[in-house]
Amino acid sequence: MASEAKQQQQQQSILVTGGAGFIGTHTVLQLLNEGFRVSIIDNLDNSVEEAVDRVRDLAGSNGSRNLQFHLGDLRNKDDLEKVFSQTRFDAVIHFAGLKAVGESVAKPWLYYSNNLIGTLNLLEFMGKYGCKKMVFSSSATVYGQPETIPCVENFQLKAMNPYGRTKLFLEEIARDVQKADPDWRIILLRYFNPVGAHPSGQIGEDPKGIPNNLMPYIQQVAVGRLPELNVFGHDYPTKDGSAIRDYIHVIDLADGHIAALRKIFATDDIGCTAYNLGTGHGTSVLEMVAAFEKASGKQIPIRLCPRRPGDATAVFASTEKAQKELGWKAKYGIEEMCRDQWNWASKNPWGYRPQP
Ligand code: NAD
Ligand code: UDP
Repeated sequence: MASEAKQQQQQQSILVTGGAGFIGTHTVLQLLNEGFRVSIIDNLDNSVEEAVDRVRDLAGSNGSRNLQFHLGDLRNKDDLEKVFSQTRFDAVIHFAGLKAVGESVAKPWLYYSNNLIGTLNLLEFMGKYGCKKMVFSSSATVYGQPETIPCVENFQLKAMNPYGRTKLFLEEIARDVQKADPDWRIILLRYFNPVGAHPSGQIGEDPKGIPNNLMPYIQQVAVGRLPELNVFGHDYPTKDGSAIRDYIHVIDLADGHIAALRKIFATDDIGCTAYNLGTGHGTSVLEMVAAFEKASGKQIPIRLCPRRPGDATAVFASTEKAQKELGWKAKYGIEEMCRDQWNWASKNPWGYRPQP
């Protein structure tokens, strides 16, 4: 990048909500490497401050100079006031939210309260302090059970559970906010299945309790924390009977956020626009297991189980819009995803925590 452009970016400050989490840490690191100043607000509900310390170390002098961490909760307006009154932000990347589908079915109030009220408070403070540029973490979950694949951004949206409904409602809220005040510029990023870890093996996904998602589960089987993987569904109409998803390397995802941010700064009529972040390739559960076994040299014992209620047969992204309008395209395939996930797992079998 031209040094002038980099210089200009050095003046730009980005607030990253949920920046201590899985996708947040990887994105914060890329932002620092690109010369942005970053403030994180996170309540550490699903993360630890050690993750932020590792990001700071990985970013070297940019990390020690340009990264601030605020322990705070988006539901608490005093916490937001403290953060917004200290720094003038050029844009916000909003990751903070709860994301476990099963938990959202059991505790819908918690999900509506955390994800909706947290975001409404954030929008209120962004408006109050005149920072009207936001990149928001949405999800492929808003496509529900897609009738056709690949999923295209203009498909009709449908939620399958309270978590998905929070994403759907927040997309609608963002559209309304932008419509009411055209000064707002909002990009909704619909992630497909983020996996992998930073190639250093210093940061990665570290879920609390038994993982819900496929890759963290496989990882914990590989390091001996769990005995076997339950494969949910082996009678789908797919080549091997298991379900198909679009797995995307978290580094590609982080780059997608930088591309979205650049687009927001450069485009005054972006409005409120949604983009898929996926690779456009579908991989089955059994193919993913085989790729991880190859990358790790470990055998992953599996148990074939009934389908998980609410799961779609096959979901993958149309990548055209992001490629054309954001100039972004995923670079990594499942070999790199599994290699980097295993590197993180083997160096940190208990995540950021010491072995109990
Ligand atoms: P994560 O749980 O690792 O990170 C979320 C962070 O937000 C955590 O550090 C948590 O402590 C923080 N947080 C939650 N509620 C908060 C609140 N009220 N105030 C302050 N901080 C709060 O999750 P992730 O995988 O990094 O996901 C980031 C975002 O991307 C989420 O909004 C999630 O719904 C969305 N998303 C994730 C996936 C995925 O598979 N990982 C897929 C699609 C969308
Ligand atoms: N899956 C599985 N075993 C697990 C977790 C997930 O077989 O322990 C399957 C799941 O049924 C789906 C795919 O892996 O077909 C991806 O699931 P994940 O929960 O990671 O993401 P989703 O696409 O459901 O958001």
